[in-house]
Amino acid sequence: MAGEQAVGSRDERTVSASRLAGEPVERQSGGNMKRILLHVCCGPCSTEVIDRLAAGNCALVVFFYNPNIFPKEEYERRMEEAERFAAGRNIRFIKGDRDHDKWLEAVEGLEHEPEGGKRCMACFAFRLGEAAMMARREGAEAFTTTLTISPHKNATDVNFAGEEAGKKESVPFISEDFKKKNGFLKSCRAAREAKMYRQDYCGCEFSMTLRRPLHRPRDHPPHH
Ligand code: SF4
Repeated sequence: MAGEQAVGSRDERTVSASRLAGEPVERQSGGNMKRILLHVCCGPCSTEVIDRLAAGNCALVVFFYNPNIFPKEEYERRMEEAERFAAGRNIRFIKGDRDHDKWLEAVEGLEHEPEGGKRCMACFAFRLGEAAMMARREGAEAFTTTLTISPHKNATDVNFAGEEAGKKESVPFISEDFKKKNGFLKSCRAAREAKMYRQDYCGCEFSMTLRRPLHRPRDHPPHH
């Protein structure tokens, strides 16, 4: 959720992932790996982001927090795939609560917004607000999210929500657009290799009418 008060400057709190992906990480943390909490939305989107951050000398803990996903069976399926990938990389996986009623309250009045509109902004803020709290509880040095890897998500909106959540909890948010450098295509290939389930709608019940056909050219975006 959007924080109302800024704590420190934007530059103090926002860490560029492209910086983290290079050598500065070791320098910043005195040779130690930087401890990052990664909010993941689903298994397929987590693949490339996890591997990119891990290559940048980041020690990751994965947090699955997506009470927006409807119905529950779909939620379980997405979570299982994300957990399976994290386990394969030997990364700790934290399961958030699926309080869908609480999420519905957060988007109340925005049900008829188009995908990419105000409901999605509230949804990003809701999920990243919890991720920021978990990052603080876990003692993470920073946190970020897989959400920007989706070609259907505006990175500016996601990063705004992450930065505001980070301000509220005083944990730096890594502002990034993981779809860049063929991020999304790489995640599609990795998911296919891992034989992962891939959803064909964003997640909430309001997005189900926008299901994207799974019969598509290779690597063409279905969803996420
Ligand atoms: S369409 Fe996706 S991002 Fe938007 S509110 Fe629904 S689940 Fe959240």
